[in-house]
Amino acid sequence: MPQKDLYSTLGVDRNASDAEIKKAYRKLAQKYHPDKNKGDKAAEKKFKEINEAYETLSDKQKRSFYDQFGSTQGSAGGAGSGFGGFNGNAQGFDFSNFGGGFADIFESFFSGGGGQTSQRRGQKRGPMRGEDIEARIKIGFEESVKGTDRELEITKADQCDHCKGTGAEPGSKVVTCSSCKGTGEVREVRQTILGQIATSRTCSQCHGEGRMPEKKCSVCHGTTRKRVSEKVKVKIPAGISNDSTIRLSGKGEAGVRGGAYGDLYLHITVRPHKEFVRSGDDIHTEQTIHLLQGVLGDEIDVKTVYGKVKLKIPAGTSSGKVFKLKDYGMPRVNTNQKGDHYLKVILDIPSKLSKKEKALYAELAQEAKLDLKPGGKSGFFDQFK
Ligand SMILES: [Zn+2]
Ligand SMILES: [Zn+2]
Repeated sequence: MPQKDLYSTLGVDRNASDAEIKKAYRKLAQKYHPDKNKGDKAAEKKFKEINEAYETLSDKQKRSFYDQFGSTQGSAGGAGSGFGGFNGNAQGFDFSNFGGGFADIFESFFSGGGGQTSQRRGQKRGPMRGEDIEARIKIGFEESVKGTDRELEITKADQCDHCKGTGAEPGSKVVTCSSCKGTGEVREVRQTILGQIATSRTCSQCHGEGRMPEKKCSVCHGTTRKRVSEKVKVKIPAGISNDSTIRLSGKGEAGVRGGAYGDLYLHITVRPHKEFVRSGDDIHTEQTIHLLQGVLGDEIDVKTVYGKVKLKIPAGTSSGKVFKLKDYGMPRVNTNQKGDHYLKVILDIPSKLSKKEKALYAELAQEAKLDLKPGGKSGFFDQFK
């Protein structure tokens, strides 16, 4: 069956660029869409032809095959599977909104539809987002309380400014790749005992683009990127906890072919403090005080992350009692709130007493009606030792 010329179906010239083909297709698809031509068989047929033509001409490999052999048979299978979804759903789609949204629907159709085709597209032609970069910053505990600024130097791939990321020497023309003749693929035919086997691989000269600058950029040699050392300023917020990550959007490596920059991820390590133990936004500490401070009460100095604070110890405080110092914990990141400070007091029993102290304690024991036997005969329980 003789095939209609796909270029004339779309009303474009054989040398039309991808953008021209896309533009022509959109215009025609809009005009002949079944929703706008209800029951018109001719329009329906035309719509189908336009879609088939675009399916081939929008794909570099299929287009090249068509250009060389005048048919689309080599890619018939792919065409069917890649396009089925579109044909099937076309009736249900609202094409009245042909504004910016249409392009997105389109992109998702053609990049999401077919297996191999879409994959190849992603790897070879489409813009590639730059890689993310990760770095680790160590800060001291005090810095995590107040927040701090850091400047770090990062080595990364950035866009080549000589060629503005195009890979071409400024002023040089873009020409069809001589190695693959613009197909983006190199076919290799090998003789084997089973006969000829043809394989194709991505053209290494143009990286599958089919077109390449006549003269490569003299600075990046066509890679579109260059290694740079960049100083990055980071604001580390007050209250940041150990193992937090700060993301600096767009501070990663440059994209390729117009792709966006990656991000920079900074992992924060906070060095532990020898007294302050952090739990969530709260701080826990322990402090040893004299037995008599607990018995009689006192006012003590408590070391907090904000400096010393006075705390009243009421008379009759037993060992192990925890006091809460409200709002003396860590700042909650990006708020005006703070956690609390919990202080556990440990009463220290003096191990050495002067003669006078001993006498006074003994007097206290008498007052408390305690029948003590210090250093006396072994008690009942000692028998079992
Ligand atoms: Zn090539
Ligand atoms: Zn360059």
